[in-house]
Amino acid sequence: MAKIGARVKLKNRTIAIMLIIIFLGFGLVFARLFWLQVVQAEDLQSRAVEQQLKDSTVSAKRGSIYDKNGNVLAQSVTVWDVVLAPAEFRDASDEKRRKVADGLASILGLNSDEIFNDSHDDESYYVLLKKKVDADVRDELLKFIDKIYEEDDISGVIQLQETYKRYYTHDNFAGDVLGFVGNDNQGLSGIEVQYDEELKGNAGRVVIAKDAYNNPLPYQFEQKVEATDGYNLVLTIDENIQAVMEKYVRETIKEFKVANRGCAIMMNVKTGAILGFACEESFNPNEPFKVHSAAKLKEIEALPEDKQDAAYSKALQEQWRNKGVNDTYVPGSVFKMITASAVLSENKVDINKKAFQCDGSWVPYEGASAIPCWDYSGHGSQTIGEALCNSCNPAFMQMGTMLGREKFYDYFVAFGFAEETGIDLPGESSSIFFQEEGQPAGMGLMDLAVASFGQNFKITPIQMVTACSAIANGGKLMKPFVVSQITDNNGNVVKYTEPTVKRQVISKNVASQICSMLETNAKSGGATNGYVAGYRIGGKTGTSQKIVDEDGKLTSDYIASFCGIAPCEDPEIALLCYFDTPDPEINYYGSAVAGPCFRNIMTEVLPYLGIEKVYSDEEISLLDTTVGTYDNTDVEAAKKAVEKDGLKAEVVGKGKVVLAQNPAAYSTIPKGGTVVLYTDTESQKQKVKVPDFRNCSVSDVNYLAAQNNLNVCIVGSSIGEAQTYAKSQNILPNTEVAPYTVITVVFNQDNSIM
Ligand SMILES: [Zn+2]
Repeated sequence: MAKIGARVKLKNRTIAIMLIIIFLGFGLVFARLFWLQVVQAEDLQSRAVEQQLKDSTVSAKRGSIYDKNGNVLAQSVTVWDVVLAPAEFRDASDEKRRKVADGLASILGLNSDEIFNDSHDDESYYVLLKKKVDADVRDELLKFIDKIYEEDDISGVIQLQETYKRYYTHDNFAGDVLGFVGNDNQGLSGIEVQYDEELKGNAGRVVIAKDAYNNPLPYQFEQKVEATDGYNLVLTIDENIQAVMEKYVRETIKEFKVANRGCAIMMNVKTGAILGFACEESFNPNEPFKVHSAAKLKEIEALPEDKQDAAYSKALQEQWRNKGVNDTYVPGSVFKMITASAVLSENKVDINKKAFQCDGSWVPYEGASAIPCWDYSGHGSQTIGEALCNSCNPAFMQMGTMLGREKFYDYFVAFGFAEETGIDLPGESSSIFFQEEGQPAGMGLMDLAVASFGQNFKITPIQMVTACSAIANGGKLMKPFVVSQITDNNGNVVKYTEPTVKRQVISKNVASQICSMLETNAKSGGATNGYVAGYRIGGKTGTSQKIVDEDGKLTSDYIASFCGIAPCEDPEIALLCYFDTPDPEINYYGSAVAGPCFRNIMTEVLPYLGIEKVYSDEEISLLDTTVGTYDNTDVEAAKKAVEKDGLKAEVVGKGKVVLAQNPAAYSTIPKGGTVVLYTDTESQKQKVKVPDFRNCSVSDVNYLAAQNNLNVCIVGSSIGEAQTYAKSQNILPNTEVAPYTVITVVFNQDNSIM
């Protein structure tokens, strides 16, 4: 044990600091596990050593974790602990001891002198040299054991004890859901700790009697109890959906220099099953004790040396938090879907009446100061649907006033914001609202006004996506879950998670009215960045001010989020994307930061889920088509074929036969685009320059493309939306390309909608 003493000491110091932080932040589950894992580890270990002299444990194999489709996400692989039994070596010469020590040191990468010293501990049968070596090292050791037996008649002094190591199939994947295990394969976070009892199995034992000299009598008096392997878990998470979500959350964090991580949660609205849960800037389950973020590591290295340990521990603790469950946030305008649901349910407003007025600000009660709308020019008179699309703060304050504090709070409770969702992940946070338990006593009229548009209180992201799912699910609030089945090693289902309906929150009718408003919002309101052509998407943006940071100081930091559902005709999934503190120099609005992330995820996931596209007539007129094969054809016949494909032909050169074409056969091109048909080799050398499309409107992009003999493929945002601008193009400005090459231009709505 001496050889690892120094490192254990350093580690224990780090851990002690970590523990303090954990006690403050995480709660008891983590703290207890850490206590067992690290602080008491040495003590437990030495007790184990004493026992193992006569009673050795046989490790149980920890169960595997599978995704929804049976792909392995976590499993236990066999490894070996290398143990020295000096008592087997009592009469050996120093020369033999040295030979064994040198051999072991070279295979295990340890200090030979220390092993040599250990070998003189004549009473001991158990000196742990190295934990969890893999099969390659074991094979080397077995060869060495054979060698010293043949050459020097040494046996029994080196022992290999079979045990297991946790291995996660993908690095840096789904860490916040899966969690990780400690040195003894005990669950420490995520599913691994939540389902530790089910996963861990029961260790077996071998009891061996000893003679008067403490020598084992293995064959006469051996008793063996086989280990029982742990159960397996089947998750609701789909590996492919998870990968798509992680990709776009990471991209968004990078693009908007998001300071404090980002998260996306996708739920099956009908069952509450979580299909993907992507919190990025997280940890690698295969290396959880390493700070994952390169930027964070740099920050830590720049600190004075005596501050580094604490900073490292703090960074670890931060990266282990599941941002969607362990943390709360101010939901901002996304919450307006809840306020609107409450007002409609209470029959406070006629859906067709322009019942709300915005002159740019509103005074919520006599004597109060005016609270501005995000649009100072005002939205005029609006129906409830228009108010949602405008994300108009005065309209929502008026709704809050119509409801009153009690009713507002009733719906807050009904939608599940006053309780934990009960998701099967550890450390779920409670929301932070104004009142003491059970009544809105502490909630003032100003609180009501700002709460109506989602400010000044905090909920968890999992609560928000669960409430949004209830709207999509005809008003039924489901309990979210991530484990769908527990199975044994023979594939028998030991336990199956039945979807749980918590309650009917709003009527089916009101739910469908809100869905339709959300759809309008994504099609032509403030949420068009979440729009996906061919699908009926509903969504709401949110841009909330963080107000105070952890130390209670005022900040101007924002949370940009987007929460929506699809497909609106019969919603199946809800998705919340949120980003904590994007760089305001780039953009901090939910529509601009989180909207495209939502759209990109939905664009890939909806077809994957087999949800069919249904295009509107307007969309059909703008659909892309596939270019045919026109070369090696007579010019006139080729022209006809191009036109038949709904495209225009541009013949270049003086030949009679088409030698080449651009765009190439099978490429995608917007309907009505142009194909160049080359009839000689000289004309194929022609090039055109790609203009800078960025920041242009749709019509300007089309005009520029026509002027420069190019095809453009427009991606993103609602078709025909006037308030959009080109954000990026796939071929850089000034690049020389063949005429009528297809340039993909990505559009985003140029809005500052909260
Ligand atoms: Zn307004």
